[in-house]
Parts: sequence; structure tokens; C-alpha cells
Amino acid sequence: MRGLSPSAELDDLCSADGEILLGRRRKELQHGVHRGLTEAAEETKSAENADPDQDSASLLRDLCESSVTSVFSLCFWLRTVAGGSGVRILATILSLAFASSAAMAHQQPVSPKDGTAEPFHWPNGKRAAVSLSFDDARTSQVDVGLTLLDQHHVKVTFFLQSENIGKRLDGWKKAVADGHEIGNHTITHPCTGNYAFSRHNALEDYSLGTMAAQLDDANAEIERLLGVKPRTFAYPCGLKFVGRGLDVRSYVPLVAERFLVGRGYLDESANDPAFCDLPQAMGTPFDDLTFDQMKDLVEKATKEGRWIIFVGHDIGQGGFQVTDAGALGALCDYLNDPANGIWVGTVAQVGEYVRQQQHSAAGRRR
Ligand SMILES: [Zn+2]
Repeated sequence: MRGLSPSAELDDLCSADGEILLGRRRKELQHGVHRGLTEAAEETKSAENADPDQDSASLLRDLCESSVTSVFSLCFWLRTVAGGSGVRILATILSLAFASSAAMAHQQPVSPKDGTAEPFHWPNGKRAAVSLSFDDARTSQVDVGLTLLDQHHVKVTFFLQSENIGKRLDGWKKAVADGHEIGNHTITHPCTGNYAFSRHNALEDYSLGTMAAQLDDANAEIERLLGVKPRTFAYPCGLKFVGRGLDVRSYVPLVAERFLVGRGYLDESANDPAFCDLPQAMGTPFDDLTFDQMKDLVEKATKEGRWIIFVGHDIGQGGFQVTDAGALGALCDYLNDPANGIWVGTVAQVGEYVRQQQHSAAGRRR
């Protein structure tokens, strides 16, 4: 909305795009239009002999109710009833709406505005950040991965499905001792029941309560077994909902309450550090890729100053959901080369930096 005149902004709200954005509230909208027309007609009668500025403001305040639906109602009314005389009214309502929004913003999480973000600077003159992460506590991550990563002096994030930790308990303790990050990936890895492996552990059958228990119990188990408290989370299968149909709920807020970062999967973009919402960070798969394919993704992120979080599963010699050990080693060499300007950090390390920068930028905008 930045940089547009009030009337242009209202045009945006009245546009087809605005209507799409409000699609879910169509019923409310239809009700609001009807109510807005009725109230506007009554208010206009009493406004005819009074101070126009004052009465425009009160009329618009009544119509707006700080609700987008009511703004949309007003658009409709102004175009059909008030015609060209509505310009001053538009300015008044938008100033009221924005004053209300500004007051509310103090209670909201940090949310960089589109386009208003300042240039984002990575530490020490780096041009991008890369995190490597591996999910599910698969045994090859311990058996193959730890030695390889140690040889390349790269620290990664292991998102552990806690019921699998016992298969390599000593290995996971070594991972902690080596300086790798341990994140949460639930206890039992619920995904949509459309995956056969998850039919009896389907997100469609979960509630926010049962999902919260998955998060908290996995944290407790990781802390009990490994002595660390996870600060980051990876959504199993990258899915962020529980329930079905009208009862579907996002469990992103549960993650936001508990973790610094919630990482997705099968996402098609790296993270814009000035804008991204950390509990919904994008995760880029790198299983089954060659080194050149990995490098292409890193170079694209570098050109854009972004943070790419790679997601792998097994580590070995090729196959479904296997990060190729040779390609991974070559990637580590590339990331470690100072000439490439990459900051390699765990998800928590980079996430913490991004959080601090977003907070600082938000403070400067206020
Ligand atoms: Zn997983």
C-alpha cells in the first residue's frame, strides 16, 4: 500500500485483486454492502446541513468499523451513490483506518512491509546465508554424515523425529558434542493421510491440542535424551495444518509460540531475510541433486542476498530421498570458500540473526 495516494489505495481495495483477497469473506462482504448502503443513506440525510468534514468522518467511522469488509462496502457505496464527491471522504476514512492500523501494529509480531524493507546486510560482508538440514533422525545421517561434515568443518541442523533417536543414541550425542544443532521434527511425524505411510497418523485426524502435544513431548524427549532444548522445528512433509474442511486449522501459531524458526519443505524459493516470517521459513530439498544443481541454487540465492535452507534425508550414494555424499562434500567445499561470500550457519544461528535484523529494522520504521 506504500506510496499510493489514499484514493489509489482505495481503488486497490476495490479492485479484482482485492476481491480475490477477500474471497473467503464473501458472505460477510455481501452483508456488509447491504448494511453499508442502508446506514450510508441515513447518515447522508443528517449530514446535509452540518460541517462536511466532521460528518464525513463520523459517517465513515461508522461504515468502516476498522474492518476491511466495511471498507469494501464503502467502495461500493461511494461509486454507486456518492460518485465524484467521495474523494475527500476516501481520504478521511483511509486516515482513520491507517491510524487504527498503526495503533494495532504495536501489538503485532514483527512484520516487515513489502517494498519498505531496507537493504538487508549479512554479517562480515557475506552475500547470502546457507543452512544445511537433515530430517527424521535417519541412521545414515549418523553413520555417514557426521564424519563427512566433520571433515569439512560444517555445522548443520538435524531435525529429529524423537521416536527414532534411540536407534543411534550415542551418535546423536556425538552430533551435539560436535556442535551441530538439534531441532524438533515431532515424535511420530504426522503428515496427510494421502501418504500411505501416514494413513494412521494423519494430520486430517489431528487437532491443535494433539499437535501441541507432539511438539512439546518431542522437545521433552530430546531434552531428556540429549540435554538440549530445540529452538527450531521442521514441519513433517512441510505441511502446516490439522483437521478437515471447515475445521482445518493452521498449526503455525503453535510453532511460533515455541520456536524461533519453523522450516517448511518442498518450497520453491529461498528466504528473503528482510521479509520472511521465521515460523514459516522456506525449505529447499537437495536430496537427489548433483553438486552443480546445488551450486546453481546457492548462486541464485547469492544474487538475491537470500537465505537458503537445504533439506535432506538420508546421506549416501544416491536413491530416493538420499543426499549424495560426494555432492554434499563438494557443496561444503564451495560454501567454505571465502571467495563465494557465503555465511554457513545452523538454522538457529541464521534465524537468530534474521530475527534481530528484522526487529532493528522495525524499530527504525517506527
Ligand atoms: Zn520428515
